[in-house]
Amino acid sequence: MTQKKDIFERDLLLASKQFPGLSIKGTPGKLFLKGILDIKDCDGNVAYSYSIEIHRADGYPFRFPKAYEVGGDIPIGSDWHKYEDNSLCLDVETEEVLKCRRGLSVSDFIIQELIPHLANQRYRATEGHYVNEYKHGISGVKEFYAEQMETADEQMWLKIANHVFVTKDKRRNELCYCGSGKKYKQCHERIDQRLELIGKQKVLNDFNNIGLI
Ligand SMILES: [Zn+2]
Repeated sequence: MTQKKDIFERDLLLASKQFPGLSIKGTPGKLFLKGILDIKDCDGNVAYSYSIEIHRADGYPFRFPKAYEVGGDIPIGSDWHKYEDNSLCLDVETEEVLKCRRGLSVSDFIIQELIPHLANQRYRATEGHYVNEYKHGISGVKEFYAEQMETADEQMWLKIANHVFVTKDKRRNELCYCGSGKKYKQCHERIDQRLELIGKQKVLNDFNNIGLI
């Protein structure tokens, strides 16, 4: 591959300057980052160092790059969010797509996703559990929507989705469709906006995957 402008490889270069422990390896078109990423404590002292690699992922920068923990500090297993090939599972897919909707650079990915993830791994290694546990697969998707819609009631999710994607006329000053007795603008409008941001296709897809529709 000899693309003139390779956004991913340009971003790798920027990240390698920002994180001196990481350097560029591989050949053009197949470059990746490899090295040490430090996790710091509240005082800024290095609490732990992880050996990592960051590789290209399809859809970048609208998807996370692939991150691997290659030092063997994190055990392999789905409850550790680490796969057989050493790659790390950083988030539920829908959440990932939302976080990347404006494009997420390698550097921002390291700062906003990878370092907090590794800090959480370190926390678990010393304390026995994660600060915030999240789940994979279907339960992960359900957890995501329960959070976004502020209820675990799946029939309510359908009601909300129906209002967001089917109801044409949304009256802000009338009573909310949920039956709370509050005006729509003071009740579900805020939650509707979140669902709208995720998008109809994605929501339908997710609802289908969890067996809701
Ligand atoms: Zn409501």
